[in-house]
Amino acid sequence: MKVFYSNLCLRHAPKYEFISGKLIDYIGKSNSLSQFEFLSPDNYGLEPILSVHSKDYVEYLQTAYQEWVNDGGSEDGVLPEAFPHQNLSSAKLQNIKITSPIAKAGLYCFDMSCCITENTWESVYESAQVVISATMELKRIVEESESDESSFVPSVFALCRPPGHHANSNLCAGYCFLNNVAISTRLLVKANKRVVILDIDYHHGNGTQDIFYSNSNPLYISLHGSPDYPWFTGDESEKGEGQGEGFNINIPLPKTTDDDEYLKILKRIIDENIRPYNADYLIVSLGVDTYKEDPIAGLQITSGGYERVGELIKSIELPTLFVMEGGYHLETIGINVGNILLGTT
Ligand SMILES: [Zn+2]
Repeated sequence: MKVFYSNLCLRHAPKYEFISGKLIDYIGKSNSLSQFEFLSPDNYGLEPILSVHSKDYVEYLQTAYQEWVNDGGSEDGVLPEAFPHQNLSSAKLQNIKITSPIAKAGLYCFDMSCCITENTWESVYESAQVVISATMELKRIVEESESDESSFVPSVFALCRPPGHHANSNLCAGYCFLNNVAISTRLLVKANKRVVILDIDYHHGNGTQDIFYSNSNPLYISLHGSPDYPWFTGDESEKGEGQGEGFNINIPLPKTTDDDEYLKILKRIIDENIRPYNADYLIVSLGVDTYKEDPIAGLQITSGGYERVGELIKSIELPTLFVMEGGYHLETIGINVGNILLGTT
């Protein structure tokens, strides 16, 4: 399996973001993973990013740190202080000119997890290039294999850091700045491909849901622990709107969910929703923070369970792009991600 990765992704390095090193160690050293081939991303520029994110938001990410420091802010990084809450009903946001760096931080973020440091833009831009490069490579392999008769179904792994599924078109949150999965999806949809996004990170992918909420392509499906962060999204009643109605599926799960229950639900989703959709590509928002000992999240999934998840994903028989999201139990993150990928090879 081809793995796209860049060391530049590590330059944004807040708390909990040690996982890339652990993953690379595992994938690089494990004998059983000799089939993994590491590739560096190409540079596809801003255009694919701007097909998902607004221009003003991208400019904010590029300039926030410098503006903040110029304004006397701490060199540790940009953090918001207040947010434009929906119940501030007498304030008309569009009438207020937001110029202060700390006000902008609240305007473009909905929590305190996305400290913007000197190197944040470089890392999130590189993370987007990782997913774009992985998408282009998967598409190339698929197109090349269309002419032969083999039943080979390719998969590629985009080892993105920072992750993406909490970021929407205009907001960062949950350690996410640019929505890598959404950027990849837009590329494929623009090429007239049908896409299913299967989000198996422990947390609800509110950003991905937002971005595609009124689209019938992709079909977005999220299995996530509930109640938990991001708290205000992820309910079963959120089914999409307009043309997108019925193409957003949320499956909140209790934290007691174990391997057998999880796999049973995943199998049902595959049979009842994914197969009938007749997609050309599957994109997996891959988080292993569903692991039973994850320190900040966690269902009751075991390392063995991840191998079975990988086998189930393989049974869908779609070209698959795995995109890294969360996972915070450092001792097992390598083996758990590896087990899912191995299940698919
Ligand atoms: Zn997560």
